Amino acid sequence: MNDADAAGQIVEVLAPLAVDQTYSYFSPPALRLAPGEHVEIPLGRQSTYGVVWEVRGSADTPGNLKTVISRYARPPLSQKLRDFVDWLARYTLAPRGMALRLATRSAESAEAEPDRLVYRATGARPQRETPTRARVLAAAEGGLVFSKKALSGAAGCSPSVVDALVDDGALEAIKAPASAIADSLTSDYAQSTLETEQEKAASALRSSVALRAYQPFLLEGVTGSGKTEVYFEAVAAALEQGEQALVMMPEIALTSQFLERFAQRFGGRPAEWHSSVADRKRSRIWRGCATGEVKVVVGARSALFLPFANLRLIVVDEEHDGAYKQEDGVCYHARDMAVVRASIEGATLVLSSATPSIESRVNAELGRYAHLRLRARAGARLLPRADAIDMRIEGPGQGRWLAPRLARAIGETIARGEQALLFLNRRGYAPLTLCRSCGHRFRCRQCDAWLVEHRFRRALICHHCGYVEQRPNVCPECDAEETLSPCGPGIERIAEEAAKLFPNARILVLSSDFPGGAERLRRELEEVAKGSFDLIIGTQLVAKGHNFPYLTLVGVVDADLGLGSGDPRASERTFQLLAQVTGRAGRGDKPGAALIQTYHPEHPVMRALLCGDPEDFYAQEISLRERAGLPPFGRLAALIVSGRDAGLAEAHARALVRAAHSLPPTPAYRLAAAGGLPEPDEIAVLGPAEAPIALLRGRFRFRLLIKAPRRANLQGFLRDLLEGGPPARGGVRVQVDVDPQSF
Ligand code: ADP
Ligand code: ZN
Repeated sequence: MNDADAAGQIVEVLAPLAVDQTYSYFSPPALRLAPGEHVEIPLGRQSTYGVVWEVRGSADTPGNLKTVISRYARPPLSQKLRDFVDWLARYTLAPRGMALRLATRSAESAEAEPDRLVYRATGARPQRETPTRARVLAAAEGGLVFSKKALSGAAGCSPSVVDALVDDGALEAIKAPASAIADSLTSDYAQSTLETEQEKAASALRSSVALRAYQPFLLEGVTGSGKTEVYFEAVAAALEQGEQALVMMPEIALTSQFLERFAQRFGGRPAEWHSSVADRKRSRIWRGCATGEVKVVVGARSALFLPFANLRLIVVDEEHDGAYKQEDGVCYHARDMAVVRASIEGATLVLSSATPSIESRVNAELGRYAHLRLRARAGARLLPRADAIDMRIEGPGQGRWLAPRLARAIGETIARGEQALLFLNRRGYAPLTLCRSCGHRFRCRQCDAWLVEHRFRRALICHHCGYVEQRPNVCPECDAEETLSPCGPGIERIAEEAAKLFPNARILVLSSDFPGGAERLRRELEEVAKGSFDLIIGTQLVAKGHNFPYLTLVGVVDADLGLGSGDPRASERTFQLLAQVTGRAGRGDKPGAALIQTYHPEHPVMRALLCGDPEDFYAQEISLRERAGLPPFGRLAALIVSGRDAGLAEAHARALVRAAHSLPPTPAYRLAAAGGLPEPDEIAVLGPAEAPIALLRGRFRFRLLIKAPRRANLQGFLRDLLEGGPPARGGVRVQVDVDPQSF
């Protein structure tokens, strides 16, 4: 082996760029690279960062290969994480480099940091005593440790005084590891007494975690049934084994309540991972995950790509939530990819929801997931009593949006000193502004969308691209004055009506427009939980996960809002959202109620909400999907073809359809004849049609839908089509979305 030891290596390196292939490099003998290591490589005229994907063999000389420049002292990516990256790229058809980028985005500067020095008083008296020295020693009293900066700062002196006191023996300097970022967690810091169903579910999860094998669970329990408490037991089991757990949440920026509960249960905080965590901290967490120091991460979908050393558990909280779907760059669904990561890692997977996705429900019914159910609220609390307000009969009349019965109920709730929530999933003041004189409507110049009036900001805003214009006083079309008129309500308009109805109420309006960013929003939500407001008016931002103990009444302003889109998932989504938001009521000591304003009280979604039993609803939705061959009974992919020139984009979409039908036959899949009805084992190419948002940020969008049977090789077909099809020209782009969320 001496020869090989003395030789260099040939390595395949993947760079986090929009490329699929790895590049070969010569690695000089001194480096001795292993797969997963981070390197600097020459690429084109520059140098770039990459990860060793494979060591192909040894070589004495570079030959015609370029040479690896250097190695970074970062924890290598494990084989399992590299497998996950490969899998993700194959599944989504994204270039492998882009999948790698998800895993290494925070690896930069994740080198081990040098130890930090901290100081402690020894109790010995310094040889020379001065008032300054006395102040430093007084600050360092009590056996606590301080940085040099903290000590000199507290005493108002220069840092050299600290050094002098160390020389004198009055202070000692201790090395503290700089990477200590995670609080130490204790698996049995404060255990709660679980109820019977909770206990059964928790013990199933605990035994699974102890097994160290991939096992998926659907934890389904009504809002407030104590699902969090149950999966905390699974986290505890992972901690007891000294291993790691990942809890994924859809709205991570708003989880302060969750973090507090976590601290009460485990005596410390988990590492938080989302886009508003500072870069330095992210690098430390990245490193801590790889070294195993960080035990529990709570994070948004991107946390799925952290380099865990020994991941035993993944929890996907609110697994049905649409926020898990990433729609730019690499299009992936974090819930589905959590299933893949858990199976590669041999970890327990918990999908938790009060209103599971149809996909997860079917998987549970077919026995692919073990189904754990909590049928009642914890602590003898009741689900809110829900009632419909039939707007055809009880509506409030022109220009108002709150039915008299709802307004009365809110008034009574506030009078009892309790909280009410009005829910409308529409930001701004009015979704459309039109001129009563000429009929002119304000529309975005870049998107196929009306501009939404925002009265607080005195602006018209496009909710798709963010385009903003001043709201004029004169119609730009016919020059008429005072004729512009808002149509329909957004939450600002509801707030205006509520302020008239309840002039003395403390009202809070909450949406993602809330000024002051995530931090201020967090604080306001805490105030809501403390009971500082009487009436909260909000969008879906307030619907999810929060525990507001004083909230006893939820009013849904327009329950039909999401139903008219024609999307096969519309019913499911509306049901999930409304069950979540009505489930905010009655989580404290007092029972809750929900009033749902609708023009369709007989709609299956309303019926499921009103009777509190979703079984019929699920059965009906599942059979609709099955008959239509839609997920999870069949598979879908969308190709979005977009361009600034509508004609070119549409022509390219058509060319792709023709290309699909002229692909050479292959045993890998069968394509249905153009325009014909597909046989059960055939892939059908539908379209092109205008995409659901036909114009977005100035690009015209056309969509092909690829519908495939469950067992068909959908990815194989897509790859053949994209590689064998016509090249896109004239600024036309093709985006692949496997498992699109709207179809
Ligand atoms: P979910 O996640 O299902 O909505 P949570 O775990 O948030 O439910 O629990 C809802 C409320 O019930 C919380 O305030 C929680 O502290 C409380 N709770 C959970 N389990 C129990 C229990 N076994 N006994 C009493 N209260 C409980
Ligand atoms: Zn726009």
